[in-house]
Amino acid sequence: MPVDETARTPQVQNSMSQTLFEKIVAREIPATIVYEDDLVLAFKDINPQAPVHILLIPKKPITRIGAAQAEDERVLGHLLLKAAEVARQSGIAESGYRLVFNNGRNAGEAVPHLHCHILGGRPMNWPPG
Ligand code: 5GP
Repeated sequence: MPVDETARTPQVQNSMSQTLFEKIVAREIPATIVYEDDLVLAFKDINPQAPVHILLIPKKPITRIGAAQAEDERVLGHLLLKAAEVARQSGIAESGYRLVFNNGRNAGEAVPHLHCHILGGRPMNWPPG
């Protein structure tokens, strides 16, 4: 039986499986982008929970921190260093800020594309809700 090669082309796979955040990377969905390089993208959260609320994502669609592989070590290290840089550039470094990775249902993860919440500009409670 002949194999339908069109079902395997990257283009077809991409259009069917892109995450919301991949669409922001591809500029298919608008966002206020505050930082970008080859590996990561940072943009303002659409529903901010603090005066500064930025999402920093790897361009590679790693689903969540619990799904990351050894090969993702470089991009994840880069992402953490850039989180600190974005926080400095956003003016929240001196007063302090929080980095959050929601992983799975109990943590409230809504978008299955790894993202670091960078939150600052107000005092925060501990323990978190
Ligand atoms: P999670 O709950 O998965 O850790 O966080 C997902 C975040 O993505 C939420 O804070 C939510 O407000 C944000 N978000 C969801 N959809 C969009 C969108 O289309 N644009 C932007 N900029 N943020 C989004």
